[in-house]
Amino acid sequence: MMRRLAVAVLVALAVSASRGAIPIVTRFKSPKNAERPMRSATTLIVLHTTEAPAKSALRHLSDRGECHYCVTEDGQVYQIVDRGRVAFHAGCSMWNGKEEVDNFSVGIECVGYHDKAMPMAQIRSISAVVKFLQKTYKIPDHNVVTHSQVAYGNVNKWQKKKHRGRKRCGMLFAMPSVRNALGLKSRAAFDPDVRAKRLVVGDELLAKVLYGKPDTMKRTYGAAKIAYVDPTVKPKPPGAAPTPPSNSFRKIPQSIAELRKQGFESIGSVTKTNLPGRIAGAKWNAADTYYTLRGRVIPGNVLDPRHVEAGMSVWRPKKKAGK
Ligand SMILES: [Zn+2]
Repeated sequence: MMRRLAVAVLVALAVSASRGAIPIVTRFKSPKNAERPMRSATTLIVLHTTEAPAKSALRHLSDRGECHYCVTEDGQVYQIVDRGRVAFHAGCSMWNGKEEVDNFSVGIECVGYHDKAMPMAQIRSISAVVKFLQKTYKIPDHNVVTHSQVAYGNVNKWQKKKHRGRKRCGMLFAMPSVRNALGLKSRAAFDPDVRAKRLVVGDELLAKVLYGKPDTMKRTYGAAKIAYVDPTVKPKPPGAAPTPPSNSFRKIPQSIAELRKQGFESIGSVTKTNLPGRIAGAKWNAADTYYTLRGRVIPGNVLDPRHVEAGMSVWRPKKKAGK
């Protein structure tokens, strides 16, 4: 027998062909929707945890227009605010120096708690919505962030400085095992606003989960390895022609021995925090910068920043004495 869905309207949302379509329930569409302005840019997807059960969360989110989608434990997806309009989900927030994250992001509320595993039915639906939005707005994996990553707190009684760590919302979505379960292959390697001293760390545990090792979800979702990406590097616009190599007169070295023979030296090794931009500065993607990994030689102007791995050596032309 068919279950009656009250006034629920099911709208098919086209997602990647492999996943088919997911039905979207509009029963909790926000009364604030029509008055919200359209966004001019969408560069982040922000994942939240409701920290409350579905029933009260849905009502609250809808009344205030506080997210675009809400995904419940059974994998049901609710539309709260149209994805192209502004929803008030991130509050006091900043990413990479840009404040008011609501103005350039889509927010997904996931019913559950920041430190508790979610059922696979829910993970699958979150993943489908995320993939759909990534495709629609051309958002790379590391720009799918958690609310706790972008929220910040102002000076208050306990904190003398503007600080990251106002809340732990969505924290689990930074863990490699959870990202892998969502089909996300990378994560920001560091906090761009803390690195630039715009903010200080206000929650050590959160900072460790977001940028360090702890992965308390690997028992549920299986241990996983993901890539760590420099969040301050702007991705090349799609379809842009690669920079013509300035060393095209020279044969591109195929091995470390050839690099040495052509006068290159290793100037550093990539780690999670020591990224190409830090090692080679603005020359990180120059044609005469090379990366070596497991015997492979990759010119800097060919290197895809999403494929930067710890352990890569960075090579630059040896400085000539007296110059
Ligand atoms: Zn949140």
